[in-house]
Amino acid sequence: LTTRVLSVDPDRPDPSILDEAASVLRSGGLVAFATETVYGLGAIATDARAVARIFAAKGRPSFNPLIVHVASVDQAKECTSEWPEAADRLARAFWPGPLTIVLPRSSIVPEITTGGQSTVAVRMPSMAVARRLVERTGRPLAAPSANRSNRVSPTRAEHVLADLGDRVDLVLDSGPAEFGLESTVLSLTHSPARVLRPGPVGLEALAACLDGMVEVGTVPSVASPGAIASPGMLPTHYAPRTPALRVESLAGLERVNWPGRAAVLTFGTPALPPLPGGVEPLALPGAASAAASQLYAALHELDARRLDLLVVVMPPEESEWRAVRDRLVRATQPQSPGPIEPGRGDTGGAI
Ligand code: AMP
Ligand code: MG
Repeated sequence: LTTRVLSVDPDRPDPSILDEAASVLRSGGLVAFATETVYGLGAIATDARAVARIFAAKGRPSFNPLIVHVASVDQAKECTSEWPEAADRLARAFWPGPLTIVLPRSSIVPEITTGGQSTVAVRMPSMAVARRLVERTGRPLAAPSANRSNRVSPTRAEHVLADLGDRVDLVLDSGPAEFGLESTVLSLTHSPARVLRPGPVGLEALAACLDGMVEVGTVPSVASPGAIASPGMLPTHYAPRTPALRVESLAGLERVNWPGRAAVLTFGTPALPPLPGGVEPLALPGAASAAASQLYAALHELDARRLDLLVVVMPPEESEWRAVRDRLVRATQPQSPGPIEPGRGDTGGAI
């Protein structure tokens, strides 16, 4: 089986290409396509056999639920059994866009899609390729990030091909994803509403929309995986294959035990202390949204270089950096044994 790759215009995708992709989906196939967050691996969300192929292609554990992409609020309502007023408000404010809303699922969504949960995560993507594809398929599309489970999410078609190769029937290449980080996941089945995964839509914007009533989900402990409310919150996730360490300040670089070949990832271009030969600096932008859009591509490139170590100098603990910090904490180990933050990136990849 060889994967077909078709180029499409991100803003005005050729309808005949979308129809071809829709027919692959309707026959139970897998199509990778860009959304504004990352590339997704799509199948018809109501087709349990097609969804099973997503889990197999990604090597994704069956308890990790998929996000269901819809083209309209009506379609979101068909996937859910309750649609509270807060959902209407959120949809009006943030859809189409990178906000995923978790609500009780309706009977058209099979259990395999929701990882056995009684809730479903729905989102209306803003990227034209994604939304028109859902429209032309006429069904909601389950689409997790198009990467092997626990690897770095793809922000370009090349990343999908490198990671999933011939496990996908068709890849729609529309260039780099816009935000470059996965969507914000907000559960309305908790009261108050709870952010299960930080993302491009910030806490402050959600709180403003919901009159202040939003809390942030806690990271579950590795010791009790049964308690995982949202598997995107697993302590180790989104990880590069290169051993990766995080330091909270430049001073931390002086305590690193450098192996042969290493890289230092910074945000902005701070003045680094002298580094041994074989250690290369790599700077991402100093502005959060620009850095987010380039982060995964940088991790993919660093992985391809097969370095012995990656050291990330963490961006500041400020709200605009929340989503980037969240992904980096899951992708790296903390520097010193020091005080251990329970359940955070310190599991040695146990999960
Ligand atoms: P991915 O599609 O790889 O970005 O992952 C989707 C993420 O959405 C999961 O890892 C969960 O964190 C979250 N999610 C999806 N469905 C649900 C649900 N029913 N309840 C809670 N979280 C969910
Ligand atoms: Mg993912």
